[in-house]
Amino acid sequence: MSFKRDSTDTSLLRNLKFRRVSEILAQQIPEDEARLLSNGRLTCLVCLHRPIFDNVNMLSIHRKGRRHIAGKINFVFDIYRNCRFIDHHLIIYYRTK
Ligand SMILES: [Zn+2]
Repeated sequence: MSFKRDSTDTSLLRNLKFRRVSEILAQQIPEDEARLLSNGRLTCLVCLHRPIFDNVNMLSIHRKGRRHIAGKINFVFDIYRNCRFIDHHLIIYYRTK
């Protein structure tokens, strides 16, 4: 028994290919940018309004959006500022030691 496609629906094949590529690329989402909630949904930690998504594909589509990219600039800046804050306190700690 073999499976053979009867039709030549290119849009269906294109959608399946896009979905498969997005599933593969979704694995590259950094852990500090998304969190898995207790109900199985995902939330974006970069955006301030914390949008909630049903699956990884929706999150990966959201990550390409304009609002997420604008929020990512502030997210990276906050990480940098927090690192400088930690470094500053570590310097004070080591100076007083
Ligand atoms: Zn986002």
